[in-house]
Amino acid sequence: MLKIGAFGGTFDPPHLGHMILAAEALEQLHLDRLLWVLTPSPPHKLGLAISNVNQRLALVKAAIADEPHFELSTIEIDRPAPHYTVETMRLLKRQFSGAQIGYVMGGDSLRDLPDVWREPQRLVHMCDFLAVMRRPADAIDLQALEAQIPGITAKLQWVDAPLLEISASEIRKRIASGRQYRYFLPPAVYQLIERQAYYR
Ligand code: ATP
Repeated sequence: MLKIGAFGGTFDPPHLGHMILAAEALEQLHLDRLLWVLTPSPPHKLGLAISNVNQRLALVKAAIADEPHFELSTIEIDRPAPHYTVETMRLLKRQFSGAQIGYVMGGDSLRDLPDVWREPQRLVHMCDFLAVMRRPADAIDLQALEAQIPGITAKLQWVDAPLLEISASEIRKRIASGRQYRYFLPPAVYQLIERQAYYR
């Protein structure tokens, strides 16, 4: 049976934290494919300045081009907002019927799941697994999480990796203020940002 991971994000820009999470999830959970689900307008980031979707699309394509098991999914780009993950997973399950399919995320996303995400209980129920890589300061309380979303802990599959204090917002700040940022990114993403003068 195919095992597929759906990795959702704003990817503004995609960085080494994302790459390592994606690659470790692929390897440790024996995924056949990892879908990068680019969210055009994340409901929880409304009101924040986010780069236009074509820019982020080009950056994600550059980031994943060399890894045959990584694939771009336009499932959110292709439908009108709001882009709730619960609806994305419903559509992906239909697209890949018969496959085992789970959601891939960082620890901060897991922590926010009960309060910030739409229909968390139904979302967790729909996922065959939840792959989570910890982030610095994500402060996950598993007991509280299980109390809020019964059944969630049984779905969790931890992705073992060093804690990486890398975030897209920090990288954007570095670029805007002229600091070095090159080594936080896959080389192809760095080159595209330089060439197009993104985030200045
Ligand atoms: P921003 O700083 O703009 O909020 P971000 O770096 O958190 O962005 P997103 O596109 O919002 O990037 O994240 C997509 C997914 O990747 C989320 O599930 C997030 O938890 C995870 N992620 C991002 N950076 C890391 C990291 N350094 N380590 C582990 N997971 C990460």
